[in-house]
Amino acid sequence: MTAASHDSATSGPTPQIRVGHGFDVHRFSDDPARRLMLGGVHIEGSAGLVGHSDADVVAHACADALLGAVGLGDIGEHFPDTDPTHAGADSLVLLATVAALVRSAGWEPANVDCSVVCETPRLSPYRDQMQQSLSTAVGAPVSVKANRAEKLGALGRTEGIACMAVALVTR
Ligand code: MG
Repeated sequence: MTAASHDSATSGPTPQIRVGHGFDVHRFSDDPARRLMLGGVHIEGSAGLVGHSDADVVAHACADALLGAVGLGDIGEHFPDTDPTHAGADSLVLLATVAALVRSAGWEPANVDCSVVCETPRLSPYRDQMQQSLSTAVGAPVSVKANRAEKLGALGRTEGIACMAVALVTR
């Protein structure tokens, strides 16, 4: 027992923390059969996104943030888009698998915070549902913020949706 490993005589060991960042972007699809899935929630009345899985850009950014926090590579390594078993995959399942990987590496997800950037659709009606389904998949609070792209660039021209995420893990 060293002084450095303890806050004081009465508290437990100082928890270790790590932070990870994730980013993802997917373009909108012309295929009317594709559904828009964001944070595990079906967003009605909007074009879907192109992707090997269900193209849930929010779940993917969260997964990469968690993987980054524990130094376990990225989502493309764990679920390659060349693997037919991941075709049309439910990305919430992938996210839950990543959370399990984090735990088997000895870390506990503390929280994940994400920012979705898109011009359309409006996400505020879906925010609570997205937060709930993502939090269930991770087993820790996940917060979702939505930002419009202010008509700037590809996102502003409604060509796709991007998401950034930050994750904290502890042990
Ligand atoms: Mg992706």
